[in-house]
Amino acid sequence: MSTLRQAMKELLAEQPRSSLELSQLLSQSEREVLDHLSHLARAPGPGWRFQIIPAVCKHCGFIFRKRDRLTRPSRCPLCQHQSISRPRFALEKK
Ligand SMILES: [Zn+2]
Repeated sequence: MSTLRQAMKELLAEQPRSSLELSQLLSQSEREVLDHLSHLARAPGPGWRFQIIPAVCKHCGFIFRKRDRLTRPSRCPLCQHQSISRPRFALEKK
């Protein structure tokens, strides 16, 4: 496992983080971070569970519960606004 992915796992075990936060903390592009996150989502490691804290529309509060993609949704299906928080991710011990 790369040291980058190991560092990412440690950050996600501390507290939930968005892909943007991870990119800043790890000095990587958000695209690179999302690539590693998609691997962690599929294979978080024995004893770990990958959690997604859903994106939320900042305008009406709609929560994107059913969404399992890792990127930020572009538009709210209820109010059509485009100001939407990024989903956040965490690793929890099973
Ligand atoms: Zn909305």
